[in-house]
Amino acid sequence: MIKICPFCVIEEERIWLSNEKAISFRDAYPVTEGHTLVIPKRHAESIFELEEEELDAFWELVSLARKKLFEEYKPDGMNIGINDGRAAGQTVMHAHLHLIPRRQGDMEDPRGGVRLIFPKRARYW
Ligand code: AMP
Ligand code: ZN
Repeated sequence: MIKICPFCVIEEERIWLSNEKAISFRDAYPVTEGHTLVIPKRHAESIFELEEEELDAFWELVSLARKKLFEEYKPDGMNIGINDGRAAGQTVMHAHLHLIPRRQGDMEDPRGGVRLIFPKRARYW
């Protein structure tokens, strides 16, 4: 059975931002308001498989998406991250970067940020 990549078939109307080689759209199951993804247009499992031009376009769109999310949602901070590989938690095998707007007080103690994937090891202080 052929498995269709959900990110290769994102509907036109769901695309928020785009450039020649990358697109950005809202996560379908947002963990916070404004949770957004940026992906390369070409299917690749990891951003480290991208050609230089694709990578440049990808980071350019990440930067624009970040700016626009701050303007639109006015969050207090943002978690920006990539789950690179199944062992790292990647579930959609089309490379993507998460932009997750954060608000003061949205969790009791946010210190550690992305380190919280291992909550028990997050603290070094
Ligand atoms: P990851 O665990 O890093 O692979 O993240 C995959 C992300 O894609 C998750 O945050 C999902 O909520 C999101 N997601 C899955 N399917 C779709 C879809 N069809 N459209 C938008 N986001 C999706
Ligand atoms: Zn794909």
